[in-house]
Amino acid sequence: MAAAADEETKVNRMAELVVIALGGNAIADRAQVRAEQQEETIRRTAMSVVDIVAEGYQVCLAHGNGPQVGTIFLQQHAAESDRMPAMPLDVCGAMSQGMIGYWLQQALQEALTQRSLDLPCATLVTQTLVDADDPAFSSPTKPIGPFYSAKEAKALGDQGGYVLREDAGRGYRRMVASPHPLEILELRAVRQLLKSGCLVVAAGGGGIPVLRTGGRCRGVEAVIDKDLAAAKLADQLGADVLLILTSVPGAALHYGTTRETYLSHVRSVDLEHYMRAREFAPGSMLPKVEACIGFVRAQAGRRAVIAGIGDAVAALHGHKGTQVRA
Ligand code: ADP
Ligand code: MG
Repeated sequence: MAAAADEETKVNRMAELVVIALGGNAIADRAQVRAEQQEETIRRTAMSVVDIVAEGYQVCLAHGNGPQVGTIFLQQHAAESDRMPAMPLDVCGAMSQGMIGYWLQQALQEALTQRSLDLPCATLVTQTLVDADDPAFSSPTKPIGPFYSAKEAKALGDQGGYVLREDAGRGYRRMVASPHPLEILELRAVRQLLKSGCLVVAAGGGGIPVLRTGGRCRGVEAVIDKDLAAAKLADQLGADVLLILTSVPGAALHYGTTRETYLSHVRSVDLEHYMRAREFAPGSMLPKVEACIGFVRAQAGRRAVIAGIGDAVAALHGHKGTQVRA
């Protein structure tokens, strides 16, 4: 299936198709909450993406939305009244896709023009199908919204309704369910846009999680991991490379210890072994590793890379980051 999709999707059969998953730091660092700060970071990110386009790759972008969707969600509740009801998490997800997609389109268009590349950009509001029986619904693992101190977290937790947990040594965050992505519902539209030569932003924040009953889709209170959704999108498009750009240079063994060692080239069987040995933290590095393993195993000849955002081009050339092959 993926091989057929491969030829169907590409505008130029020779060009490799890369699905790039942008991490939170590609949009804003922890201290950046104002629109202009996020726009500034996105402008830098867009330069790296356009560097990749300039190398002749066909690009489809996916991105995270954890901090943004969390903030939108809190804003909804802070201003809630009878006349202004708070929108549910799935609708907040759609808002975040529009907001980040708008920033990306503007920044990408600017960067493309600077390099005299004549390419249209478009963002697709994307829904991702999930299973109502996914065990994730009974054990929330996905951090969203701002970071809290231990004291603030306890106070919020005591109010009820929130599950708060420590996130990779950086403070406490609200956790929601993170069900497995089954299908990108707008896949055909993404494919058409890519085929017409468009730089596409899709599956923002992992896509809006929806359940399908009969002929009808409805959103659910969850956040799909953007790395797993990007891998699903890349698989369904028949992409050649899945490039996961984040805040660290790759996947490390003994992360955060004096024995910390970044993996450079690794086979999926070894990566799986390290994963089972709990080398990668759930909710941060673990889904990236799972995404890479799943993507490279689904079809021969594929490559997946986890790299720092500043190393995007070198990582694509195989010189930086953690390079994963089947
Ligand atoms: P993104 O927004 O790019 O998805 P995440 O915060 O979810 O970023 O994941 C990247 C983080 O994963 C790193 O900043 C690091 O703190 C954490 N991490 C956990 N385990 C590892 C590991 N074994 N190797 C590298 N980073 C790790
Ligand atoms: Mg993440």
